[in-house]
Amino acid sequence: MDTYNIWTIGCQMNKADSERLGSALDQMSLSLVHSPEQADVVVVNSCVVRKSAEDKVTGMLAKLNGFKKNNPSQVIALMGCMVGPKQDKLQKQFPFVDVFMRPQEYDPLLQLIGVKTGIDPDGCVGDLTATPGVTAFIPIIHGCDKFCSFCIIPYRRGREVSRTITDIVRETELLVARGVKEITLLGQNVDSYGHDFDEKRDLADLLIALNDVKDLKRIRFLTSHPNDMSDRIIDTVAQLDKVCEHINLPFQAGDDDVLEKMRRGYTNKEYRLLVDKIRDRIPNVSMGTDLIVGFSGETPEQFQKSVEMLEDIKFDKVHSASYSVREGTIAFRTLPDDVPVEEKKARLKTIDDLQKDIQSDLNAKLNGTLQEVLIEKITDDIFEGRTKNDKIVRVSGTATTIGEIIEVKIQKAGPWSLSGLTVDRLEVLI
Ligand code: SF4
Repeated sequence: MDTYNIWTIGCQMNKADSERLGSALDQMSLSLVHSPEQADVVVVNSCVVRKSAEDKVTGMLAKLNGFKKNNPSQVIALMGCMVGPKQDKLQKQFPFVDVFMRPQEYDPLLQLIGVKTGIDPDGCVGDLTATPGVTAFIPIIHGCDKFCSFCIIPYRRGREVSRTITDIVRETELLVARGVKEITLLGQNVDSYGHDFDEKRDLADLLIALNDVKDLKRIRFLTSHPNDMSDRIIDTVAQLDKVCEHINLPFQAGDDDVLEKMRRGYTNKEYRLLVDKIRDRIPNVSMGTDLIVGFSGETPEQFQKSVEMLEDIKFDKVHSASYSVREGTIAFRTLPDDVPVEEKKARLKTIDDLQKDIQSDLNAKLNGTLQEVLIEKITDDIFEGRTKNDKIVRVSGTATTIGEIIEVKIQKAGPWSLSGLTVDRLEVLI
């Protein structure tokens, strides 16, 4: 048993879980291969937050079933949010899967590999040790206590549990020693970090501790819940030099009755006041959001309130999705999924078209400005990185390396990215 492949879908938390599992498999002397067909161990890290994601997982498993017929010794593991506390139904549906693992439950697979290879898996899952890139995800709080009516996450990832500040700082130091320059702190509700501790500690305390890590350049965090975004967190983001000025704050719906049915715990007005406060206190902040269209009973007039939110607030990024009912959620039990599919598609298109225009306008204002870009990768001689406030920037013809922060003069702006040249390159061209 020498090789592995991990197929991942869904949120950044899933990507972080896959990185961690990959790191453990590396330590057990397995090597990563890019084709699942060739791997001795294949892991499918699943997502069921939307039906479309679940369908892709089912499609991937069907493909693996075909591979396994030719290679019966291949080990297939299904991990992530598709795996609930009871697995009998899944075992019947996917009898060719050898191991089922709930999110962050790496042990069943590692034990099985341990038995087959004779390598002791103890201690292999801990800190992230795979050769990291310039950026790394660090989960800081697992689970969610909010139980929004449409969401399956609390049932699959459990209640909120925060990691200690000491643990997270130590892991960050290890990653920085291996070349990481930027970390993204992850949580379903990252801004409720620490509320489960006995002593009073919150995300602000964690950011303060991480800001002191030598040679770490940037700190990001995802995703925030409007009800947990305290003044202290906002002021801390404004004050600390390494914390990036970008906040993803899902509003999900613009209408108060829809928000109430979703059990989001805030109103349109409260959300808008919070955005005003964040923009007042954090200069140059960019804002992202998540939005669902076509939730149970959402009328065209109620949908219009979501459109107005986008028009008024002008987010830098929007993650939009049409509502798909998830079995086991409060909405599944109590609310009809009654907006027709075609109507949901049309609403999604309205949002996506509008947001494309908004992003084009916002980014066009950056033309001619100087931006600090952390270079994350290079493809075909084009360097790519991000600004502190999370704009993607492509830079061509420059002498730099991955991991460097360079100053770029923006020369072209589109809805999804910017491009430009470094100042010294511009001087050469002049
Ligand atoms: S806050 Fe709501 S949407 Fe986000 S993970 Fe928790 S239950 Fe799901």
